[in-house]
Amino acid sequence: MKERNPSEPEAVWKEKDVSSGRTVDAMVAIMRTSGCRWAKAGGCTMCGYREASLPQTTESDLMSQVDRIIERYKGEPFVKFYTSGSFLDTGEIPVSVRERIFDEFSECERILVESRPEFVNEETIGSLPKTATVALGLESSDPEVLRRSVHKGFTPAESKRAGTAVRDAGLSVRTYLLLKPIYLTEGQAIEDSVRSALFADPWSAEISINPLNVQFGTQTERLWKRGEFRAPWIWSLIEVFRRLSGNISARLMSSPSGGGSQRGVHNCGECDRRALDAVEKFSFSQDVRDLDVACACVEKWKDYLRAEKMLGTSADLERGIINDLALRM
Ligand code: SF4
Ligand SMILES: [Zn+2]
Repeated sequence: MKERNPSEPEAVWKEKDVSSGRTVDAMVAIMRTSGCRWAKAGGCTMCGYREASLPQTTESDLMSQVDRIIERYKGEPFVKFYTSGSFLDTGEIPVSVRERIFDEFSECERILVESRPEFVNEETIGSLPKTATVALGLESSDPEVLRRSVHKGFTPAESKRAGTAVRDAGLSVRTYLLLKPIYLTEGQAIEDSVRSALFADPWSAEISINPLNVQFGTQTERLWKRGEFRAPWIWSLIEVFRRLSGNISARLMSSPSGGGSQRGVHNCGECDRRALDAVEKFSFSQDVRDLDVACACVEKWKDYLRAEKMLGTSADLERGIINDLALRM
C-alpha cells in the first residue's frame, strides 16, 4: 500500500451545500490526524476510520496540511474540516492548529467541524467562531441501539447536552443519524431514524440522515459478508424524509457514501441513480414532491419489510434461500 504522507491532507474537494438558506460552493478538507480516540478503544461497529489515522502525525505535520488546504482554497463561503474523528479533541487537533484554521478562514460565511460530545465543553465552544457549525454524530436516540448496534460509547443524553450547549452559545448544530445500524430490520431502522430526528430537532439546525455504508474491516462488514446484513434501501431513506417533512424545523439532508452499490444504500439497480438524485434534490429544496420516484421495485421493498417482520430477522433476505422463501409471501 502507498505510504501516506502526514504533512498532506487525506483529501480536499469542492461540493455544494447550504449556508444562510441558499446553495453555495463548499470546500471539504479531510485532515490526517492521529485518529479517533474511541476508534482506538474498539470503535463503532460501522466505522472503518481506524485505517485513516496516522499515529505519528505531529503538530508541524498538521500545520503543513493546513498550508496545502489553503493552497486549494478559492474563496468558497462554506468550509468543512473533517478528521475521521473529533476536531475538538486536542489529541487530534492541537489548540494551535485549531486557532490557525479559525484565523485563516475567519472570512468564511460558515465553517463546519465534527466532534464527539465529550469534547464539547465551555472551553472548546468558546474557541469556535460565530460562524461555526458543530456536527454531532448522534446516530440514534435509542440508548440500546447506540450501545448494542452502534457501540458508540456515549448516550443520547450526552449528545443532547452537547447539542444544546452549542445551540445556546448561538452556534449551529448539524446532527448525523445512522440509518440502519446492524441488528435492526429495515422497518425498525426507519422507525429509529424518524424517532431520532424528532429527538434531535430542538437543538439541530440540520439533520443529516446517513444510510449505513459497509466499510472495510468493520464488524458490520463481517455480518454483511455472511449475509446477515443488507445495506438499507433508498426507499427507506425516502420514507424517513416523507415522514419527517413538515414535522420538524431542522433542514433534512443526506449525501450517502457508496450509494447505488451493494455496500451502500441501494434499490434494484435500475432506479438507484434517479432515487439518489431525488434525495439530493430534496436535501436542497426540502420539497417532498422532489422525492417522487417511480420504479416497480418499490413493491419488492414493501414485501421485504413484511417478510423480515414475519421472519423476525434482520438478515439479508435478498440473498440465499431465505430470498425465495420470504419474497414469495
Ligand atoms: S464513527 Fe466516529 S466516533 Fe465512532 S469510531 Fe468512527 S470516528 Fe470514532
Ligand atoms: Zn428500482
